[in-house]
Amino acid sequence: MMATESSGVTLSARVILDDQDITKSPTDQRNYRIVELDNGMRCVLVHEAEARQASAALAVAAGHFHDPHHAQGLAHFLEHMLFLGTKKYPDATSYQSFISAHGGNHNAWTGTEFSNYYFTVDANYFDQALDRFMRFFHEPLFAQKWIEKELQSIESEFQLKRQDELRRLYQVHKATSNPKHPFSKFSVGNLSTLKDQPNNSLQQQLRDFFQRWYCARRMTLVLLGPQSLEQLTELASTHAQAVKSGCADVWDIDEPLYLSEQLGIELHVNPIKDARRLIVTFALPGINDDYANKTTSYIAHLLGYEGPGSLFGYLRDKHWINTLAAGGGISGSNFKDFNINMQLTEQGMAHRDEIIAALFHYIQLIREHGLNPWRYDERRVGVMNAFNFQEQPRASDLAPQLAVNLQHYLAEDIIFGDYRMDGLFQPKAHQFLDCMRPDNMRITVIHKDLPTDSIEPIYGSHYAVHPLSQQQLETFRACTPTGVKLPDPNPYLAEPWQLQSISSDEPTGLPRAKQTAPALMSWHLHDIDFRQPKAHLYLGFQLPNVVATPANFAQTRLWCELMLDILNEQCYDAEIAGLHFNLYPQQQGMTLHVTGPAHYAPQLTNTLLQAMLAPEFCQQRWKDLRQRLMTNWRQALLHKPLNFLFSHLNVQLQPHTYSVLDLAEELERLSFEDFCASSPQLFTQAQVQLFAHGDVKAEQLAPVHEALSTWLGLAEPLAPIDLTPAALDTLPNKVTVNTQHPDHAVIAVIQSMQNSVQQQGVFMLLNQMLQPRFFAQLRTEQQLGYLVGTTYLPMQQYPHLLFYVQSSRVDNQQIETAMNEFFDDMPTLLADITEEEFDKARQSLTQQLTEKDSSLRSRSQRLWSAITQQDHDFSRLTRIASAIETLTMDAFKAESKHLFNNKSGQMFLSACPANFDRSR
Ligand SMILES: [Zn+2]
Repeated sequence: MMATESSGVTLSARVILDDQDITKSPTDQRNYRIVELDNGMRCVLVHEAEARQASAALAVAAGHFHDPHHAQGLAHFLEHMLFLGTKKYPDATSYQSFISAHGGNHNAWTGTEFSNYYFTVDANYFDQALDRFMRFFHEPLFAQKWIEKELQSIESEFQLKRQDELRRLYQVHKATSNPKHPFSKFSVGNLSTLKDQPNNSLQQQLRDFFQRWYCARRMTLVLLGPQSLEQLTELASTHAQAVKSGCADVWDIDEPLYLSEQLGIELHVNPIKDARRLIVTFALPGINDDYANKTTSYIAHLLGYEGPGSLFGYLRDKHWINTLAAGGGISGSNFKDFNINMQLTEQGMAHRDEIIAALFHYIQLIREHGLNPWRYDERRVGVMNAFNFQEQPRASDLAPQLAVNLQHYLAEDIIFGDYRMDGLFQPKAHQFLDCMRPDNMRITVIHKDLPTDSIEPIYGSHYAVHPLSQQQLETFRACTPTGVKLPDPNPYLAEPWQLQSISSDEPTGLPRAKQTAPALMSWHLHDIDFRQPKAHLYLGFQLPNVVATPANFAQTRLWCELMLDILNEQCYDAEIAGLHFNLYPQQQGMTLHVTGPAHYAPQLTNTLLQAMLAPEFCQQRWKDLRQRLMTNWRQALLHKPLNFLFSHLNVQLQPHTYSVLDLAEELERLSFEDFCASSPQLFTQAQVQLFAHGDVKAEQLAPVHEALSTWLGLAEPLAPIDLTPAALDTLPNKVTVNTQHPDHAVIAVIQSMQNSVQQQGVFMLLNQMLQPRFFAQLRTEQQLGYLVGTTYLPMQQYPHLLFYVQSSRVDNQQIETAMNEFFDDMPTLLADITEEEFDKARQSLTQQLTEKDSSLRSRSQRLWSAITQQDHDFSRLTRIASAIETLTMDAFKAESKHLFNNKSGQMFLSACPANFDRSR
């Protein structure tokens, strides 16, 4: 027993494990302790000496599986209601305002068997924030007024998901599984599932659910901050002790996920969008007890392999599939769906049974030749490299993750559990492989033109279920050989990773630039601050021909996709070993980003550049990928209207940014011959900026410089491309687009054409202080929609402030009216801001801006972004921070007033469904 003294009361907590007993990555500087409070709540305390923010997360073993049959969605509704008032803090906006006023953010989710609540806040206010947060779990009010309002929010969330392809498929999945298994329940809830019942009000239902499932024994709490482990223990005891202990209600699912007639079937589903997908699902038993061996992830690794001779390579070369992912699928206490999920080509639709037959052949191959300890060990080496040189997760991600891990894993494994691979356990592997047979399989085919005969009642998807035919079963069982093989040993996993030593002439601190050719600027920083033998290489290509016309831009995008496709097979072993690359066109030309173990990253970059020199494209593959791009682009109007508006805003304001609908038209006009003939011209004029960061030495870059010069010449420097955004006073101040999504959405934009650090500071402060007010008024109070918020967006350092709402309840005019009322109220809102609030906002923003980099990755991103923004002394963020520090409240208010009065610097972008009839 460990006892701590606090205000005269003795608090006690039993230590379960201390730091030395918990398996940690060597890069992990945090200290951990796991305790159990008197009421049975288990807590993970995490001390991070330099943290400026503190985080908390509480996971509870209560999710939508626990919903009563007559009130589906109740767990989710309860998650919303907990935020809206407790005995001590009855005001519904109190928690949210407190968190945002102190530089934090908060969120929550409801899953199948767990729900998770979490927040971050400035570390000095942790105690006060916990006082508000922990009361959710012992004295929520469930006030009638807020039940009524928040039901609207649930309904909006439901309406929003009606257009969500995954959500619709998920509900068909539920409709075709065992109705006695809790998975079959509807998880989101809506106005028809959540309501008062005779003699049982919704308020009472909430109280009963809370009473039954929300007890300390079902909860795990994580507190993370700069406080000592003793102080954190005391915080946990102080704030969590009032949660009732409760009984850990036994929760066992004794029903199987599928009835026998729900297996050995083919399920046809019509999507909203133009998609072609084949998902093969095998019904496995639960895998919670297998986490130390990771048998399914080992099998998935073999099935999903994409190197030479792989199943994927075979199916792609037949031009039947574009992508293949293995191992995903729902899982829970007594079930695991093992999915092989493939995006089909047009041809592939006609060869589905052959695809599945090839899959069965590969499974046979694994069973007979794939269960080798050396393969398992190779996989473990890769996973251990990832663990030993793990980039430390951000505190705000770590806390909720640990809370859930403590529910699933042994206490010593809360960090290591996701990585632990004790060995290949043959009986388990055979058990799972034996489950991979036609009569234990469900095939899901997703396509618009499939005939269907049923309608899923909640989201309205059309589907049909067919038992597999005798002929199908025979095809699958025949196991016709396809010439595929299991992966060869991976050369990239032969050598362990290690740090290179720093020599005295290496630059440290900030990146240094070196002009290595007239049109090649090479930035380099050998950086081992994070003790990571990893590197990031960014190559920014300025290519005037690429950005000159939408036709060229579309062509470049297709060129990048084809290159990635070619390189993917060639470099798949490298990918498995942790080397990753991406290639995409942007406003100035193109970017290549390579990251991974430092002794391979420059070498891989070189290999990639060599391949780009004179690529040979396959015509059929060109057709498949062009089709895929055009289909994706053409569906933009079906996406969430807010997403469409954000990209539309970019097209309106940013030079050399094109509408995806226009890009699709351009690709339609392009022939394979023209593509091959004209692609080299995209690269005839080029200038390159290279940034190599991490455990990489200057001399490793010489081959990369050489490959770049060989490919692109780089003998002539180019004039810079002007990326200044369009001024709003040159554009119409109202733009409406017609979309094919039933929701309405509006983004209001406020722009400044001054790109000084002072002006950026004003915008950031405004965003910080208006965000909670806007949310409270338009979402919590008026319930206009589920997606409501503000965001700060700089474009080439020109600040923009965006206010957005998406609604399934009201139309775009009503949203605009509500926004205008909010803006008209600005003088009062500004007058309400107190000196204290202003100081806190200033303080929390300057803290965020000057926060130390948390990982190599985030430092790389920050430095690269500075290089591309011409911030060559890397001081912009600090200068914004000092501008904020010296800004007075009066100057801030005067400037804000001016911004809101200047109507020509504003724009309303609206989305309205194409067939929307205002008179209805
Ligand atoms: Zn929700």
